[in-house]
Amino acid sequence: MGKRILVTGGAGYIGSHVVKVLGERGYEVLVYDNLSTGHEWAVLYGRLVRGDLGDRETLRKTFEEFRPDAVMHFAALIVVPESVREPLRYYRNNVVNTLNLLEVMREFGVDKFIFSSSAAVYGVPERVPVPETAPLNPINPYGETKAAVERILRDLSGSGADFRYISLRYFNVAGADPEGRVGFAYPDPTHLIIRAVKTAKGEFSKLEIYGTDYPTPDGTCIRDYIHVVDLAEAHIVALEYLLEGGRSEVFNCGYGHGYSVREVVETVKRVTGRDFRVVEAPRRPGDPPILVADARRIRERLGWQPRYDDLEFIVKTAWEWELKGRG
Ligand code: UDP
Repeated sequence: MGKRILVTGGAGYIGSHVVKVLGERGYEVLVYDNLSTGHEWAVLYGRLVRGDLGDRETLRKTFEEFRPDAVMHFAALIVVPESVREPLRYYRNNVVNTLNLLEVMREFGVDKFIFSSSAAVYGVPERVPVPETAPLNPINPYGETKAAVERILRDLSGSGADFRYISLRYFNVAGADPEGRVGFAYPDPTHLIIRAVKTAKGEFSKLEIYGTDYPTPDGTCIRDYIHVVDLAEAHIVALEYLLEGGRSEVFNCGYGHGYSVREVVETVKRVTGRDFRVVEAPRRPGDPPILVADARRIRERLGWQPRYDDLEFIVKTAWEWELKGRG
């Protein structure tokens, strides 16, 4: 019998890719999602319970029936500018709801937890590539909520309670399932690769480059783009590690090298074979010039081996998904 994994936010972009791999590997999956941004069609394996993490009764009932061996927690609000405008909503959704989830886990004796954290916890790092030991110094409410949960997890894990967790700090997640069954499907996307492929498709009339005067070789920001399927695999190795009795850990999820905005735009034009209008625009507030992971720890400690460290492939899968018209 496969282990039972409860996946919050499993109908969303990253969660749905992880659910696909879990299902393929024989895990028994239950997705708990309020479908505020997720989609029923994105849940390829297991049962979907439409529920909110603020609704403790539904959550308890779900734990009682499903009796998970471990929880993967993707459900969260993720739009940085929105978090600046509506901080309370972000703290309630991302922090208070995570507390609910952790308390219900404790009630039912579930002691293994995988958390979707973010490179946003580092803010503007003092040095890059940024190691996991760098101070948490978020510069927006979204990053604050992720850092707050990380501190809660650290304290719970250190309290003597039976509780072990892995926090995965995602860098710039992009691309889609190469089989084309799931992909990014979120209204008003702000992320560079999604906006660029949508512009190539004609959905937007132009792509803006936010800032061309950064202290980088071509003046535009550098990011560490990781393929969503490699990120999904990182969750699987983290889960296996916890199931085998591994201790609490925090890992960066990136490749350890980056590309500039201009390099991404050129790659999108080449891969799609479409030219589109690109205009230089002012800096977007809160963007660090360079954000690249020191990505050694997860390889060394968990044996994670990425397969798609290739910007062209990332863009190609994002483009193919976009052409399917579900994004
Ligand atoms: N960016 C851009 N134009 C866009 C979207 C993003 O120039 O339409 C830049 C953004 O300023 C940042 C980089 O692309 O330097 C990556 O931004 P994204 O929103 O994809 O991810 P973030 O690094 O903010 O998580």
